[in-house]
Amino acid sequence: HETAWLNGEFLPLQEARISPLDRGFLFGDGIYEVVPIYDGQPFELEAHLDRLEYSLGEIRLRNPLSRAQWRSMIAELVERNGGGDQTVYFQITRGADSQRDHGFPDPDLAPTCFAMSSPLAPAPARFASDGARAHLVEDIRWRRCDIKATGLLANAMAKQAARDAGADEALLHRDGQLIEGSSMTLFLVENGALLTPPKGPSILPGITRDVVINLARDLGVAVEEAPLAMTRLQSCDELWFTSSSREIMPVTQVDGITIGDGRPGPVWQRFQQTLSERTRVQSST
Ligand code: PMP
Repeated sequence: HETAWLNGEFLPLQEARISPLDRGFLFGDGIYEVVPIYDGQPFELEAHLDRLEYSLGEIRLRNPLSRAQWRSMIAELVERNGGGDQTVYFQITRGADSQRDHGFPDPDLAPTCFAMSSPLAPAPARFASDGARAHLVEDIRWRRCDIKATGLLANAMAKQAARDAGADEALLHRDGQLIEGSSMTLFLVENGALLTPPKGPSILPGITRDVVINLARDLGVAVEEAPLAMTRLQSCDELWFTSSSREIMPVTQVDGITIGDGRPGPVWQRFQQTLSERTRVQSST
C-alpha cells in the first residue's frame, strides 16, 4: 500500500509532497471519499462518485477528473497495491494559492488531487461476539454535514472523547436527538423494523446506509427514516453503526445503557451476513 497518486502521477506515498499554501492544509477546503475494495474490485463505486460530485458542487469546486478517469485511476492504484481487500481514500482540495486568503482563488487555480489505499482491516472479533461500545457526545459539527468535507476536527474530537471513555465510537446527539457516529451512520432496530435518521444537512448520506435500506427491501424488513429521540436508546432492540470500511457494526453498550439483551442481535446477524455475500458477489462480477 505504499503507492499513492498525486495530481495525475503514481508515486511512493513517502515521496508525495504538498505545498503548505494548499487550501486543504490551511482551511480544510476540500472534499474526500473512501471506497472499499473487495477481491480487488470497488464496491458501490458509482454511488461514491455521485456523492463526490454532490460534495464538490456544494462547495463550488470543479471535478478535475471525468468518471472514466476516476475509475481507471482507482483500478490502477488498487492493482499497484496488490489487489485483495483495501480501502481507497481520495481527496480534492481547492489547490495552493500564492497567499492565504479566505475567499476562493481564481477558478483556474489547479486543484490538488490525492489518492492512497490501505488494507481493509477486518473488524475486531469482539464486535461480532459481544458488540461494540458507544459513548454519547454532543454534536458540535457545522450545519452542512451532508458535505463530505476534509475538515474533520469536530469528528476527531468526538472519536477521541469516545476512546477516552473506553468506547469504540462516538454516538453524536443534538437537541435531544440521536444523529450518527463520528464516521458512521446510525440504525436502530425496534419491533423488527429499521429506524434511521433522514437524509438532510445534519448527517452524511452514507453509501452503506443506502445499501442497508435496499437490503431491507429485499429481505422484507420495514424501514422508517425519521428523527430518533435519545429516549429510543431505552426502547430499541438493536443499535448499529454502518460505514464503507466497517460494514454493519453492532453496538451493545452506550455509556451505562445496555442495548436490547446486550448481545449482537438476530437482525444484525441476518443483515451483516447478507451484506458480506453481496460485497463479494457485486465486486466479482
Ligand atoms: N457519517 C459520517 C460522518 C462519516 O464520516 C461516514 C463515513 N465516511 C459515514 C457516516 C458512513 O458513510 P459511508 O457508508 O458512505 O461510508
